[in-house]
Amino acid sequence: MKVLVINAGSSSLKYQLLDMPQGTVLAKGLCERIGIDGKYKYEANGEKLEGDTPMQNHSDAIRFLTSMLVDAKCGVIKEMKEIDAVGHRVVSGGEKLYESVLITEESKKAIEECIPLAPLHNPANLTGIKACEEVMPGVPQVAVFDTAFHAKMPKKAYIYAIPYEYYTKYGIRRYGFHGTSHRFVSEQCAKAMGKDVKDLRIITCHLGNGSSISAVDHGVSVDTTMGLTPLEGLPMGTRSGNIDPAIVETLCDNEGLSVKEVLNILNKKSGVLGVSGVSSDFRDIAAAAKEGNERAALANEMFIYSVKKFIGAYAAAMGGVDAIVFTAGVGENDKGFRLQMTEGLEFMGVKVDAEKNDVRGKFAEITAEGATVRTFVIPTNEELVIAMDTEAIASK
Ligand code: AMP
Repeated sequence: MKVLVINAGSSSLKYQLLDMPQGTVLAKGLCERIGIDGKYKYEANGEKLEGDTPMQNHSDAIRFLTSMLVDAKCGVIKEMKEIDAVGHRVVSGGEKLYESVLITEESKKAIEECIPLAPLHNPANLTGIKACEEVMPGVPQVAVFDTAFHAKMPKKAYIYAIPYEYYTKYGIRRYGFHGTSHRFVSEQCAKAMGKDVKDLRIITCHLGNGSSISAVDHGVSVDTTMGLTPLEGLPMGTRSGNIDPAIVETLCDNEGLSVKEVLNILNKKSGVLGVSGVSSDFRDIAAAAKEGNERAALANEMFIYSVKKFIGAYAAAMGGVDAIVFTAGVGENDKGFRLQMTEGLEFMGVKVDAEKNDVRGKFAEITAEGATVRTFVIPTNEELVIAMDTEAIASK
C-alpha cells in the first residue's frame, strides 16, 4: 500500500510517499510560502530538486506535489490512482479523539472543535485534509494526533490545580504533544531491548527546537512536560517552558503589554534565544558559548539542568526507570548535551559511555558498563507512525 503522509502548516506543507508495510520512503518534499510566492523542494531516487511555482492555496500545493510524484522524469508512481491512502498529522485531538481516525464529516467536525486547543495548527491541518479531499476524491484519509499517545495519562497528571470547573467548562488540562514521536521511540527502545514495551518504564526525551519529555510506564504515557499548549515544560528554542504564571502580570504592568503580547514573547522570544540573545538554534548557542559568551553558556546550562530534573522526576513518578531515550534534532545529534544531561545520575543507575555516545543521527545504545538503566539514541520517525496507522485504518 502506498501512503501519502501530509503535515500541513498555515503556509507550508511537508509530505512523504511511503511504501507500506516496508516503510520505504519513495519521495519526500516541502511546499512553502503557499499563498505568497510558492517554493518547493522535492527529493526522490537520490535526486533533489527545488524551485518556485505559484501556489495560491493548499489545493494548489497538493496538485503540484502529486504532479511531481507522477512526473515522467522525477516521479515515483505512474498515476495518482497508485496512492492508496493519505495520512495527516493533526496536532490536537482534544479529549474526544484519543486514537487515529478515518476522516469523515463527523471526525472533521471533531477536529474543528479542537481548534481552541491548537489555534495555530488545527486550522492548517484541516485545510490540508480538505485540499486532499478536493484533489484526491475517494481516497481514504486518516488523521493521526500529536496528543493521542498521552490520552491515557492519569487524572493526577493532567488536571491543573486551578478551579476544577475550568476543566469541565473549557477543557483546560494537560494534553501533551510530540505523541507520535514518544510512542515511536519507546516502541523502538523496547524492541532494541528484546522486551515488550508493556514490561518497561522508559523516559523519552524529544529534544529539538520544540522539546518535551515523557514518562512511558508499561507502554502508557503517564506524564509529559508539555501541557494545554506546547509552551509548558522545558525551556526550548524560543519558548520559555515552565515559569511562574505571575510573571505575565509583572511584564504586562512594567512593559505596558497586553497578555497576548506577553504570550507572544513567551512563545517566540524566550527559551534559549531569550536567555542567550544569540539564537534559537542550539548549534549557534554552542558556538557562542565556546567563544566565551556567558549568556549562551547559561542558556545551555539551563536546558541541560531542566532535562536532568525531569528525568529524575519521571523516574520517581514511575517508581524507577529501565531506559532513557534521546531523540529529535538535539537528542539525536548532540553528544555533548547527552553526556551532560546524564552526568551525575549514577546514583540512579544511569551512566553513558563517552565512546559509544560518539554518534550522530543514528540508532545507538550508549549505556556505560555497570549502568543498570540503559540509555539509547533513537532517531524519531513520525511520518512512519502516521503511515502505519493510516495503513491499518484504511485497509479495514
Ligand atoms: P528539530 O526541531 O528536531 O528539527 O531540532 C532542531 C534543533 O536541533 C536545532 O536547535 C538544531 O540546532 C539542533 N541540531 C540539529 N542538528 C544538530 C547537530 N548536528 N548538532 C547539534 N544540534 C543539532
